[in-house]
Amino acid sequence: MNIPDIIVAIDGYSSTGKSTLAKLIAEEYGLLYLDSGAMYRGVTLHAMENGLIAPDGTIDEKGLEKALETLDLDFRSSGTEKGTFIGDRCVEKEIRTLEVSGHVSPVSAIPFVRKFVDERLHAFGKRKRVVMDGRDIGSAVFPEAEIKIFMTASDQVRAQRRFDEMKAKGEDPVMEEVMKNLLERDYIDSHRETSPLTRAADAFVLDNSDMTLHEEMVWFQGLCQGRFGILE
Ligand code: C5P
Repeated sequence: MNIPDIIVAIDGYSSTGKSTLAKLIAEEYGLLYLDSGAMYRGVTLHAMENGLIAPDGTIDEKGLEKALETLDLDFRSSGTEKGTFIGDRCVEKEIRTLEVSGHVSPVSAIPFVRKFVDERLHAFGKRKRVVMDGRDIGSAVFPEAEIKIFMTASDQVRAQRRFDEMKAKGEDPVMEEVMKNLLERDYIDSHRETSPLTRAADAFVLDNSDMTLHEEMVWFQGLCQGRFGILE
């Protein structure tokens, strides 16, 4: 099935499988996949590495605003490395640690951080044929996106998925900490003033607590067929 040149916006709670679905859609339909959360994680890592986040979590906002003036944060590939880069350094692994996860929501609630990331996301969106996942893509970054999906799943299922993912990467996660981090991020993301996590009125809800990835793809295909009148 071919789909037109569109933007697909996938938003939702932490660890609902947004990026897994988005990557598969990108592969299946020839779209460019962009992970907006990786940008917020990149900013957070940069802030941590430059001593702009105190051990108690306080963020040096003035210092961060200055640091963003020269931060070269981008999605790239270089040799075998692919994903998020700070300058010439691939930081794909570093941005996924629980430590970064612990600071990313307060950092991403800062309006100038959102502006910094939004500018980069808009530049990518100009090309169309993009699938982007995040928290505010359908509601704020690309309100004109042709397909909007809002993903959700039970807390238990989400925490288990994140736990398994970390284990598979060779980490040694503690279930209670993983769950605590998920719920904390959901709360901060949904309650911040600037573009909070919210379902756009025209987004389709996908609760994948009891769905396989294959079932999610069949659901997406049905959505596109209905939306674009594709008879296949
Ligand atoms: O998607 P991921 O869990 O990697 O995102 C990390 C964090 O980045 C989220 O918890 C949220 O605080 C922030 N984020 C955001 N807006 C987006 C994407 C991510 O605020 N569009």
